[in-house]
Amino acid sequence: MSARAAQCPNCGGEVRFLTGASLVSICPQCKSAIARKGANLEAIGKVAELVPTSSPFKVGMDARPQKGTRPFHIAGRLQLSTGEGTWDEWYVGFTDGTWGWLAEAQGGFWLMTPVKPPQVPAYEQLQPGETLDLGAYGSFAIVEAREATYASAEGELPFAAPPGSVFRYADLSGADGSLATLDYGDGPGLDGFYVGKPVALASLGIAELVAWSDRTVSVKALALNCPNCGGALQLKNPANTVRIACPFCGSLLGSADRTDQGPPSKFTVLEKLAAVPFKPALPLGAEGTLRGDKYAILGAVQKATSSGGEDYFWTEYLLKDEKSEAYHWLAESNGHYTLLEPVPAGEVTDGPRVAVFHGNSYRVFSRSQALVAGVLGEFYWAVKAGETTEATDYIKPPRMLSKEKAKKEIAWTEGAYVPPEEIAAAFALKKPLPPPEGVGTCQPWPHSQTSHLWWRTAWLLSVAAIVVYFLAKLLTPHAVVYDQTFDLTDPQRAIYSVRGGASSTSADWTQGGATPAPSPANPTAAREAAEAALSASRVLISEPFETKRGANLAVDLWAPTNNTWVQVEFDLISEATGDVRSFDLISDRYSGVDGGESWSEGSQNRRIFVPRIPPGRWILRLDPESEAGKAPPSFRVRLTSGVPHVSHLILVILFLLLVPTLLVFSRFAFEGRRWAESDFTTAGAGRESDDSDDK
Ligand SMILES: [Zn+2]
Ligand SMILES: [Zn+2]
Repeated sequence: MSARAAQCPNCGGEVRFLTGASLVSICPQCKSAIARKGANLEAIGKVAELVPTSSPFKVGMDARPQKGTRPFHIAGRLQLSTGEGTWDEWYVGFTDGTWGWLAEAQGGFWLMTPVKPPQVPAYEQLQPGETLDLGAYGSFAIVEAREATYASAEGELPFAAPPGSVFRYADLSGADGSLATLDYGDGPGLDGFYVGKPVALASLGIAELVAWSDRTVSVKALALNCPNCGGALQLKNPANTVRIACPFCGSLLGSADRTDQGPPSKFTVLEKLAAVPFKPALPLGAEGTLRGDKYAILGAVQKATSSGGEDYFWTEYLLKDEKSEAYHWLAESNGHYTLLEPVPAGEVTDGPRVAVFHGNSYRVFSRSQALVAGVLGEFYWAVKAGETTEATDYIKPPRMLSKEKAKKEIAWTEGAYVPPEEIAAAFALKKPLPPPEGVGTCQPWPHSQTSHLWWRTAWLLSVAAIVVYFLAKLLTPHAVVYDQTFDLTDPQRAIYSVRGGASSTSADWTQGGATPAPSPANPTAAREAAEAALSASRVLISEPFETKRGANLAVDLWAPTNNTWVQVEFDLISEATGDVRSFDLISDRYSGVDGGESWSEGSQNRRIFVPRIPPGRWILRLDPESEAGKAPPSFRVRLTSGVPHVSHLILVILFLLLVPTLLVFSRFAFEGRRWAESDFTTAGAGRESDDSDDK
């Protein structure tokens, strides 16, 4: 750094060129811009008075940043104005002789350095929201393209344009979070290209930095009363305030002589109102900690859109994050709140149905022309009622991604749903906020946590039930209460007898005896009588047996059937009450070869479950029937008490899944109510879409 002092050609005072890259130094005495032209100095114009801003920086500060950023010295300040706002850009010299800009926007900070300009379209062709491919530099989204006036400066500057020059520039946002500026200067070609990364104020290592809340304290000394109604205005962000909408009378205040800026003490009434245009639910000026960050509520904007002949209103609160100094938003609609913060346009991939940010897809929910219907509080830009922007909301509940598109710029914000109780607690509201109506745009389904628990519990209990079922099948003392095999003793009449000889059952059917002689006079009646007698003769009555406990009864029938069948009718008779349970089973297995393919059907084994058999003594009455002449040689009947049945398991599982299933229906209903408010279907198609071009 070579200190060089010289004489101001305008006033003779001392001007200094301390930084090698500087082309201009502003004379501290006469405010002339003194340009260095070879060995000569030339006054190229006078700068206007600097507008006070709440920038944390000052000319002369030294930065000793943490790793990643080189140390630098703040050599100059350029004050630019768009007619809607004024801001500072700080010219910095690095210790190695190179230089850059420390830029501020919406409360964020970027350190930008000049790089070789790429091939770019003409300024007039730039459209905010579109993407520019800058070759090796990557692709960038165009955030804004506009003109700004070189209003004032102090210290040194790296260019020699005269004060009052109009610069055209475009701000770009890269996919990796970087920011770039295309500087078109005042001519047709590109004058410069700057690329940088956001820097955190606290990591810059500037010893003299004063926190935002402390910086504003000194300006608070500017006691301000509304020039219309006399109300005392308690300003939170006075140094940055360009417009005040009086919270008492609604009048819009600003500086009359300069459209864009002015200290609050000089504010006059720009637009007179007799009453506030709307009543915000949250108190302006309130401070509170929400989701870990301390905020001050600066202002509220009421917005409106009309759809199908009806007007819809919502409110957007402007918040100042007191630590990072960034501006955030708290949007309120029907009592539902969403906390949103600005995100770089370059990190959003915008599509007709979804927008992708940081790997998450958000579905398009609404797109509308949003009209500023009313404003209240302090604003860092020249807000006024009547302006419109195109607002598009994309959702991934509980998160939301919003795009706001104006003619010259595009802005993205992203954030999450915040329940009203949390808002009320954060800002220590004395009255609870009105209960929200309907389903909020990005309101999470309220049972998602419990639903998760229900499902997990249901699955765990179902697995437990399955284990218990199989263990019970293996381990419970299901008792065989009856097991008997019956042999075919008379194939012609298909009469069976208990295997192993004499028993009362065998006695029963051996008594059944003779076939009645057919009567030639009435052959049909005679045959029926013969069949009835035969049927009676086949009936088997079991020995009494006992069931020890109330349980179900598994009844098994088995027979060595092969291309034949035996059907057994069962009557289970209670000895105590005479109650009868009747059912039947069939054993039938058929197989063969058909066209070279072997086939089989039916089964030799059949089982039936008889539910709820009380303990007691029972008798079984069996009536077997089989195909004449083709009866199997025997059949076997087995009764088992207390067999776990799979239907019990299924009932248990259905019961366990009942609540989770109801929750699924609840969720569908919730999403249905949410999307009923949308301009789009859940698939992203427009509803009642009118494709007419309204350009
Ligand atoms: Zn001078
Ligand atoms: Zn007022």
